[in-house]
Amino acid sequence: MTSRPTLIGMPYDASSSFLRGAALAPAVIREALRTPAGNPWAERVVQSVGAEVLLDAGDLTLPPTAEARSLIEHAVRGLAQEALPFIALGGDHSITYPILRGLRAGYRSLTILQIDAHPDLYDEFEGDRFSHACPFARIMEEGLADRLIQVGIRAMTGHGRDQAQRFGVEQIDMRAWADGARPSTAGHVYVSLDLDGLDPAYAPGVSHREPGGLSVREVLTLLDTLGGELIGADIVEFNPNQDIGGMTASVAAKLVKELASQIVVESD
Ligand code: MN
Ligand code: MN
Repeated sequence: MTSRPTLIGMPYDASSSFLRGAALAPAVIREALRTPAGNPWAERVVQSVGAEVLLDAGDLTLPPTAEARSLIEHAVRGLAQEALPFIALGGDHSITYPILRGLRAGYRSLTILQIDAHPDLYDEFEGDRFSHACPFARIMEEGLADRLIQVGIRAMTGHGRDQAQRFGVEQIDMRAWADGARPSTAGHVYVSLDLDGLDPAYAPGVSHREPGGLSVREVLTLLDTLGGELIGADIVEFNPNQDIGGMTASVAAKLVKELASQIVVESD
C-alpha cells in the first residue's frame, strides 16, 4: 500500500539558546513548497508530490513552555501507532526529543540519521536540559533509538565528544565525510535534518551558521542512497529572520519534496 506522508508544523523556538525565529519556519516552508515558480514533482519523476499525495495536518499550537513537548509527543504517537509517515516542519531542534518519544510507541527498532553541524548532545545547556543543544542526549538516555548516526558535524566540544562516546553515537564529521566516509542504514530510519548541517553558502537562514558544511546535492544524494525504510523526518532550525532572499526556504521546500517522494516510492 502506498503511504502518503503528512506534513505537521511545529512552530516552536522557545528552547533556542541564541536567536528566536525558527517558529516562523513552517509557514515560510509551505509557501516555498507551493510557489508557482516550481512544480510539485521530485527529482525521481515518479509521482507528483502535490497536495493530493503530501497531506498536511497543519501546525500544532505550541506554547513556549514544557507543555509543548507533551503536545508534540502526543501528536506523533497518534501517527506512529498507525505507522503513518510524516515530515515535521520545525521549529528548533528541541522538538526532536518529544518526536522520538512519540515515535517509539510505533517502532520497536529505529535508526536516526541526524544531519547537523552540531551533535546536540549536551547534558544541559545554560541550565536547560531540554535546550535545542540537548535533544540527542535525552533520546539516547531513554533508549529511544537503537542507533544514532550523525553526519556533517564540525562544531563539537570536548563534552560533545565525551557524550558521543558514552552513548555509542556513530559520527561522520565533515573531515571524515571529506575522506569519503558514508553512513550505512537498515530497518526503520528516521531523518532529523538540521539545516545548519548544510554549508551556510546554501542555507544561510539558520541561527548558528557554521562554514565548511554539506552542499544541497550532497544531502540529496545521501538521502537518495539511504538503506532501510524512511518512516519520518524533521526539518529544523530554519530561521526565516536570518534568510537571504528566500534561499533557505527553497532549500527546505526541496528537501520536503524529495523526502516525501522517497517515502511514497519506498512504500509502493
Ligand atoms: Mn545545528
Ligand atoms: Mn541541531
